[in-house]
Amino acid sequence: MAAVPTAMRAVIFHGPGDVRLEEVPVPAPGPGQVLVRIGAALTCGTDFKAYRRGHRVLLGDPPSPFGHEMAGTVVACGPGKARFAPGARVVVGNSAPCAGCYFCARGQNFLCERLKLHNGAYAEFNLVPANIAEHNLHALPDGLPFETAALSEPLACALHGVEAARVAAGETVAVVGAGIMARLLLAALKARGARVIVAGRGRPALEAALAAGADAVVGSSDGDPVAAVRAFASGRGADAVFEAVGQPQTWEAAVAMTRPGGRVCLFGGCAAGTKVPLDAHRIHYEGLTLFGVFHHTPAFFKAALALLGEGKVRPHGLIEGSIPLADVPRYFAENRDRPLPKTVVRP
Ligand SMILES: [Zn+2]
Ligand SMILES: [Zn+2]
Repeated sequence: MAAVPTAMRAVIFHGPGDVRLEEVPVPAPGPGQVLVRIGAALTCGTDFKAYRRGHRVLLGDPPSPFGHEMAGTVVACGPGKARFAPGARVVVGNSAPCAGCYFCARGQNFLCERLKLHNGAYAEFNLVPANIAEHNLHALPDGLPFETAALSEPLACALHGVEAARVAAGETVAVVGAGIMARLLLAALKARGARVIVAGRGRPALEAALAAGADAVVGSSDGDPVAAVRAFASGRGADAVFEAVGQPQTWEAAVAMTRPGGRVCLFGGCAAGTKVPLDAHRIHYEGLTLFGVFHHTPAFFKAALALLGEGKVRPHGLIEGSIPLADVPRYFAENRDRPLPKTVVRP
């Protein structure tokens, strides 16, 4: 194995609209930590959101390492018992349970009182913190490309939503939105055996959803999406609906598409302070269940990697093209307002 250099290139977030390629020291792993040479990172809509307006939950106080979807090769382990040896191919989770707060003790580490999301995918090396190295660092199945493995993070979020909605095989499900997260929800739902209709806007995204296995799609030019979903679901409304846009109107539409006794997974995060008017009469008398879902846990991360490894979720159409690390600042500046498929960043 080649010697680890003392300096590396890394993309650092300094504030909205300001990310820079810098030369920084390669950190030496402390007890329980693992140093990974990044094989591939993926761009993520959340990174673009952070680029446009900052993101304290994701990035903390800048300057911060940037990028959070990554896979690579272990090059060094800190002192102590290590789960991996140098040379192991791994995917790095971006959070892990702490030493035991109220929420982590209940398996809800996405609510951890000390939640610190891990970044630094857009770099040559990543120092994996001890809690992630212990709970959310996973060996890749043989032959699984780094960029496919890096999809584990967003897919884990989708699996979290599908599990929270207790979707069963044969159920009729609607996904509101046709972006990358909506398509990962679709993939997770098809892996569960659900019948899925996707309601979106742009025709290319809906065509991609059909190609990815959607049973039906409805676009803005096809009339009222609520009526279309009801028609798809025997006139009753869907057993479960996933809102994957994060706008008040689509939250309302998601509730309106749900059958009596059905579940509404509010997956798309609205901006802080957003209020949504909902039909309280329906929610009560029709026994609807509404819940929010955010992030993932190591168990969902592991399940996501397994689906990718078994080919049950395919990266086709979700990832397009690749750029070298040095192009990351320019790529974010040029594409800040455009929804894009994920792009591979190769150090
Ligand atoms: Zn992401
Ligand atoms: Zn915790």
